Amino acid sequence: MQILIISDIHANLTALEAVLSDAGEIDSAWCLGDLVGYGPDPDACISQIRQLPNLICLMGNHDAAVLSQIDTEAFNPEARQAIVWTQNVISPDNIDFLKSLPDKIQINQVTLAHGSPRQPVWEYLLDTYSASRSFSYFDSDYCFVGHTHLPFVYQLNQDSRSVKLIIPDVNEKRELKPRSILNAGSVGQPRDRDTRAAYAIYNDDDQTWDYHRVAYDIPSVQKRMEAAGLPLRHIQRLTAGW
Ligand code: ZN
Repeated sequence: MQILIISDIHANLTALEAVLSDAGEIDSAWCLGDLVGYGPDPDACISQIRQLPNLICLMGNHDAAVLSQIDTEAFNPEARQAIVWTQNVISPDNIDFLKSLPDKIQINQVTLAHGSPRQPVWEYLLDTYSASRSFSYFDSDYCFVGHTHLPFVYQLNQDSRSVKLIIPDVNEKRELKPRSILNAGSVGQPRDRDTRAAYAIYNDDDQTWDYHRVAYDIPSVQKRMEAAGLPLRHIQRLTAGW
């Protein structure tokens, strides 16, 4: 099966549509959370994601904040402003959908979580130290995460118990090796100085991970953010990819 892996869409419909058209035909979609927050299209993004085939969708910290399951005091003032704006525009039906999302799930050889298998909604895997602590919190061969908005592969060396960080090349098809933690990057707000939307295709027949980037119309998203009165910093960062 060709499984689309997306994360951190952050209410950016233009980026999501670019990813879906670039990905082409897929059998299934796994969305690793943060459907909303920052961007101008929360309802349209959730509705689009809900229509993806054989969808499995996880809860992210911004989704939890919109549901008031996380205190918005934990966010910086601008992120908080975007969360409050989202709460005011999102439909009750899509709120119910967000409420239904699990924070961690295992499907065959893969564990899915937004942040980390240890603290699914909140922990950032930003270095090999935090990654190395994560391996004892899942039993499957692989764990797919989002949250940092940075594409990465953490590979555990079973003999030395050391963890290696690999930054994947774009369009690189990687044969997965147990055990590893992988991040496909962010659809709606990339933070690796590459402004293009990021995603991956996981093939569970041959256990490969195909990592992609696709350009999208950033100014059109920025115009909608301006019209919605969303914070300037979030508008500007899309142009620089941070
Ligand atoms: Zn995020």
